[in-house]
Amino acid sequence: MAAGAEGAAGAGSGGLAVLGAVPGAPCCPHGPALLFVKTSQGKEEGRRFYACSACRDRKDCKFFQWEDEKVSQARLAAREEYNRSHQPPCTHRQNVERYKNFVLLPLSKRRFCQECQQLLLPDEWEKHSSHQFLYDISTAQLRSPSQLLYPLENKKTNAQYLFADRSCQFLLDLIISLGFRRVLSVGTPRLHEMIQSKALQEDFRVRSLLLDIDFRYSQFYTEDEFCHYNMFNHYFFGGEAAHETCRKFLHEEKDERVIMVADPPFGGLVEALASSFKKLMAMWKDTEKGGNKNQEMPMFWIFPYFFESRILEFFPSFSMMDYQVDYDNHALYKHGKTGRRQSPVRIFTNLSPGVIVLPAEEGYRFCAICQRYVSSGNHHCEICNSCTSKDGRRWKHCVLCKKCVKPSWFHCNKCNCCALENHTCEKIDVGCFVCGKAGHKRSSCPSLSCTRASHQAGKGRRQKQKTLKPLKRAKLGVCKRWATKRTIFSRRKMKKKKKDKTT
Ligand code: SAH
Ligand code: ZN
Ligand code: ZN
Ligand code: ZN
Ligand code: ZN
Repeated sequence: MAAGAEGAAGAGSGGLAVLGAVPGAPCCPHGPALLFVKTSQGKEEGRRFYACSACRDRKDCKFFQWEDEKVSQARLAAREEYNRSHQPPCTHRQNVERYKNFVLLPLSKRRFCQECQQLLLPDEWEKHSSHQFLYDISTAQLRSPSQLLYPLENKKTNAQYLFADRSCQFLLDLIISLGFRRVLSVGTPRLHEMIQSKALQEDFRVRSLLLDIDFRYSQFYTEDEFCHYNMFNHYFFGGEAAHETCRKFLHEEKDERVIMVADPPFGGLVEALASSFKKLMAMWKDTEKGGNKNQEMPMFWIFPYFFESRILEFFPSFSMMDYQVDYDNHALYKHGKTGRRQSPVRIFTNLSPGVIVLPAEEGYRFCAICQRYVSSGNHHCEICNSCTSKDGRRWKHCVLCKKCVKPSWFHCNKCNCCALENHTCEKIDVGCFVCGKAGHKRSSCPSLSCTRASHQAGKGRRQKQKTLKPLKRAKLGVCKRWATKRTIFSRRKMKKKKKDKTT
């Protein structure tokens, strides 16, 4: 999205901020486009434009339109035609029919085309004859589509990082122990499939509805189990019918409590995600007659810990759990216990932290003072009166900074704050064009998405920053490592290849 928008806008040395989904926005094949604003240094007013909500890479969706651009009737018609022709070749309905036929086939005739990522019916083999197949697709395989389908890793658009079995099982056990009977799985196909598989057992009563942009899943699930959905603009590709499916699912009967679990792409715009999640929460609220639910829909938002402040900005009722969510196909971030690196991914929730019981066998323990479970390395600081570690390592208190800091940091008297021992004092870093802070480029700016208000405030910040004393600027520089980490983990592939030349 942002990077795609950036490329599209030719943002040059300027910055970008998302203003969000606005009524009357033009559509690309991924639903209504988001409004962004382009800013260039020294220029007061950024020019606003629409770009694709879902795609960070312009190669995946090249939609672009200035907000004030006049679009001719002919171009509108062409665009509509383009959007139509860029929808999947089969409808969900058709895929459900195909599936019914597929499961009737004997094992020897059940083939999956790896190239097209499609279950094949015998009369289609010919057409795919030059492609690689998987043969003898078993019922077990059909129940684990996330294992069968190739994870979309190399595409920026929807990089898929699948839960390690241990983490997936933990999430499900937690959901069950908390008494939930329905799970709205937003971008969590593996959790969904774990629930679906268990639902075949007699004593298992939990149900799940998967909302995901990956249409390949429509081959395996009915319209009551999967909705083709874009979580950056709250767009249901299946129209009103899909909307209604979701609404029905959210309607709680008797004691069938619902929880939403989302694991969005980490490069995603927090503001756009938050806005969609709020809409899903509102749908849940509206299902109660007269809308008299006065609580918030329970939610787990799975995201890296360094987005904590961004998430709390939009959801003040949320808190971050210490549990480290592990992934199967993310080489860098797997569980720390065996000497591998620790995962920076956490669960953010609006449930009371005290009820989120973390597994003792993985070293988590309950802090009676904080009234929550914390990781083994997270020690309660008497001075902060809190278990302060964010990354699972033991943090130490700095009396001068009046807070706990990472174990690798030391107080630097020149900079008047804690930093890595080998940092360069008073180093003046060229600030990020989006937020003005040093230590990261705009492509990895944590505030890439900000509200219009905060964007304007941001402009003020940047101007102010020009007049900051070197001392203060150097302070900002210490967040460099965090910014770097985020870039690495932002699910933009580590493939190096593409580097924005302008940043
Ligand atoms: N850990 C999860 C998968 C998370 S990967 C699991 O194992 O179940 C992110 C998921 O979000 C993928 O399934 C991807 O297809 C989906 N996704 C990416 N962009 C999306 C968008 N714009 N709207 C909805 N889903 C999206
Ligand atoms: Zn698009
Ligand atoms: Zn504590
Ligand atoms: Zn402390
Ligand atoms: Zn210093």
